[in-house]
Amino acid sequence: MYSPLNTASTLLRDISALFLPDLCLLCNRPLEAGETYVCPRCWASLTVFPDRTARPYRALRGELEWLWIGWAYEARVRRIIHLLKYDRRPEVADLLVREWLRAIPHLDAVKEMDLLLPVPIHPARRRWRGVNQSERLAEALGRALDLPVEYEAVRLVNTPSQTLLSRPERFRSLEGAFRLPSAPVFRGKRVAVVDDLATSGATLAELARRLREAGAAGVSAAVMTSPETGLS
Ligand SMILES: [Zn+2]
Repeated sequence: MYSPLNTASTLLRDISALFLPDLCLLCNRPLEAGETYVCPRCWASLTVFPDRTARPYRALRGELEWLWIGWAYEARVRRIIHLLKYDRRPEVADLLVREWLRAIPHLDAVKEMDLLLPVPIHPARRRWRGVNQSERLAEALGRALDLPVEYEAVRLVNTPSQTLLSRPERFRSLEGAFRLPSAPVFRGKRVAVVDDLATSGATLAELARRLREAGAAGVSAAVMTSPETGLS
């Protein structure tokens, strides 16, 4: 709500931000020179995903060669991921990927991939949101590991919020949701699907199915976090 007092305090905060050091997003301590958004102590204190073996979800057994998950699904990790959605600077994605790769076990296997595929979002949602954070992540991961990124996959169905659906409904709602390019870009390639978050794994399963149909030699996935701990 507008009030002269609120406006004055916002102005004061903006002015003081010009002179005071940036604060860590998570602990509010002042950042040192060369640190951005999150201090090294907070990065180091994030809980890595419980299953360090990085095996696929039980529901996805046989669907993915590898599933890399960076951190446990906790409030601090979600705040960091929000940066991707609301701060459009590319260095945000590079910073997140640098720390994400430190958290991911079996990093060598990520480097063996031929191609990265960000999970596509529906064009309507992209217009509304302005950015596909999965693309930003895949680009930064590609820069870090020197891997190409494929952008041409299309999401045909603007699926409802997955949180309202039961597990079988999630898997059903995504059938036929994606279209892959007709050119043989995936044939014989080992592909890693990239996303910020995996919930039921339904999206990854559907994309993996389509990629195998398109001739991919193997499909893996890398996500920053997941609330799902039922890994086998
Ligand atoms: Zn901190």
